[in-house]
Amino acid sequence: MNVSVDRAKCDNHGQCTFSAPTVFRLNEQGILEYDEKVDDSLRADVDEAADVCPMQAIIVTD
Ligand code: SF4
Repeated sequence: MNVSVDRAKCDNHGQCTFSAPTVFRLNEQGILEYDEKVDDSLRADVDEAADVCPMQAIIVTD
């Protein structure tokens, strides 16, 4: 699957990193980094991250 984050919406507070820590992480500057190509085995975690994102900034496509 493909993951993208709308940087204009993202507030970098990192709620997504708790749902899918192998995909989303905050760097040393506190800025969100993430994998754009993600194995489908992580779909449930990524969908949960998208659900909990308060800004609805995470877009998941096949
Ligand atoms: S949960 Fe959403 S707004 Fe928060 S860091 Fe992740 S993508 Fe950004």
